[in-house]
Amino acid sequence: MSTFSALGIRKDYIKSIKEIGISKPSEIQEKTIPILLKESTDFIGLAQTGTGKTAAFGLPVLHHIDAKSDHIQALILSPTRELVQQIKKQLFKFTKYVDDRIFLEAVFGGEKIDRQINNLKRTTHIVIATPGRLIDLIERGDIDISHVTTVILDEADEMLSMGFKQDLNRILKFTTKNDRKTWLFSATMPEEIKRIVKTYMNTNAPRVEVNPNSLVNENIRHQFVKTTIKEKTDLITKFLEKEELKEVLYFVEQKQVRKI
Ligand code: AMP
Repeated sequence: MSTFSALGIRKDYIKSIKEIGISKPSEIQEKTIPILLKESTDFIGLAQTGTGKTAAFGLPVLHHIDAKSDHIQALILSPTRELVQQIKKQLFKFTKYVDDRIFLEAVFGGEKIDRQINNLKRTTHIVIATPGRLIDLIERGDIDISHVTTVILDEADEMLSMGFKQDLNRILKFTTKNDRKTWLFSATMPEEIKRIVKTYMNTNAPRVEVNPNSLVNENIRHQFVKTTIKEKTDLITKFLEKEELKEVLYFVEQKQVRKI
């Protein structure tokens, strides 16, 4: 088992990731970080959520940023607003002990574009975006991507299945000019992804695959209960009353406040 230091990660980053419980590299991190730190290359990573892939691409991309420059140097594309915000949060935590501040901005649909345009007027080094919103900003001329050197597609298969195929193709047409590097991460490799790789990337790009069972969150126990819509609320209430839970995350389709 390697260490982050042996993989080439700087001390200031090692200090911050340790604080959030990342002390030993996961499989994807061990295989990916040395390549992305050393080489300027396209890259394909086959890994699912929970393997530690955000740090696998996040730490190298942060190492490559020139914080003294005012320009946007990296774009990270992700399928949902929640994932975009999550990536921004993680990367921000990684930079806690870095001397020259690296500025990150998240842009996504569902929030006023004017606010995001204003934010982008400040120094920004890395933009994390959903594809649709990024295309809007590019086409309005409200984002300068001319200094971008690295484009990261996170959960590429999810972006396609959520209907972002056209947006992705349009973005890649802009971004794969001028020797920019594309790092593609995906849990699966359907035909559509292969086509993207063939069209926009170096087909000899290094490819890293990890065991789908190598999850960093393996100490989580999953359980499910089958019920009917009618009995669902009662069942959840009973469950909440029975268990001594400190914190609960409840995922819902619609926000509807109902006291139980
Ligand atoms: P990801 O697959 O990037 O979504 O990461 C899933 C979770 O694992 C995040 O909460 C990370 O903070 C955490 N994580 C990432 N790398 C490691 C690691 N090497 N050891 C322990 N936890 C990690």
